[in-house]
Amino acid sequence: MRSALLAWYDATRRALPWRAPPGVRPDPWAVLVSEVMLQQTTAATVARRFPLFVQRFPTPAALAGSSLEEVLVAWQGLGYYRRARSLHACAQRLVAEHDGRVPDSLDALRALPGLGAYTAAAVAAIAFDRPVLPVDGNVARVGARLLGLALPADRVRAPVAAGLAPLAHGERPGDVAQALMELGALVCRPRAPSCSCCPVRGFCRAAESGRARDIPARPSRRAVPVRSTMAFFLRRADGAILFRRRPDDVLLGGMIELPSSPWGEERSLDEHLAHAPAPGPWEPLPGEVRHRFTHFELRVRLARGTAEVAPSGFWLAPETLSEVPVPTLTRKLLARLGVVVPHRGR
Ligand code: SF4
Repeated sequence: MRSALLAWYDATRRALPWRAPPGVRPDPWAVLVSEVMLQQTTAATVARRFPLFVQRFPTPAALAGSSLEEVLVAWQGLGYYRRARSLHACAQRLVAEHDGRVPDSLDALRALPGLGAYTAAAVAAIAFDRPVLPVDGNVARVGARLLGLALPADRVRAPVAAGLAPLAHGERPGDVAQALMELGALVCRPRAPSCSCCPVRGFCRAAESGRARDIPARPSRRAVPVRSTMAFFLRRADGAILFRRRPDDVLLGGMIELPSSPWGEERSLDEHLAHAPAPGPWEPLPGEVRHRFTHFELRVRLARGTAEVAPSGFWLAPETLSEVPVPTLTRKLLARLGVVVPHRGR
């Protein structure tokens, strides 16, 4: 199976911005950055943002020597900003304890901030050819099908890691890992696996029994909790908008946002307006903006007002917004209000 996988990978691998060309050893820092980005962001988005990010921070020292705010601004468009904070801490640890280099052992990688078991294994395999098999969502699905595991998708990772572990103990473990990821992205897709052109069909229990589409079983969809808030769009006569900065230790910490009422249960208009940053008058806008976080959905109503002074927060002209860290939620709200925030570097 390993030989079939590697032959297919050599013939069909995509040229991705974070992938080293055939025969070239990858830059471990680039591998680490890309794997952190790919944790919770689509490959298409990472493909757009990764080149600019590594151009700006080509080494751990370059990132460690930058301010957290600069890193958060460069991370815009990738979401889940906790990863940017962890990457900043990780770079500082690499400079302080590893001479500015990415260590090549799984244990040392696992001890770095922001690197969970999967990311550490992916860096160890791809950057250093260590004999480990990182199991991401694609590899979990491919492995569950190869092994014929009729388990729910959220319970296949451990048995897949155990069942496919022997694949990593042989030639080119890094390429074996990437070949499985690539197979999941291009051939063994979630809803429509192309078994007829799959290089490992002869080893696949799901294909053999005609169950490829049914494996892994779909996990039951849980209803997510809903939180509500009202965001206040306050504008001065010169066009500047009132913002505030989120505390460092909360979701989207350090990012800027429109002032809002506390995120929580549905409230009446008057209860929301009690948290407005200025006396008003306020014009509530129709509809709401919905934003999905990992563990809950936020529903945001908007109210618009004008003022020249506000007791808290700070004013920013729209054209300066590319210089500060603006999360997707704030961008969505501003877009609803007709304010477009450019990404830095685009
Ligand atoms: Fe996936 Fe089909 Fe290949 Fe099996 S044969 S690994 S189900 S594409």
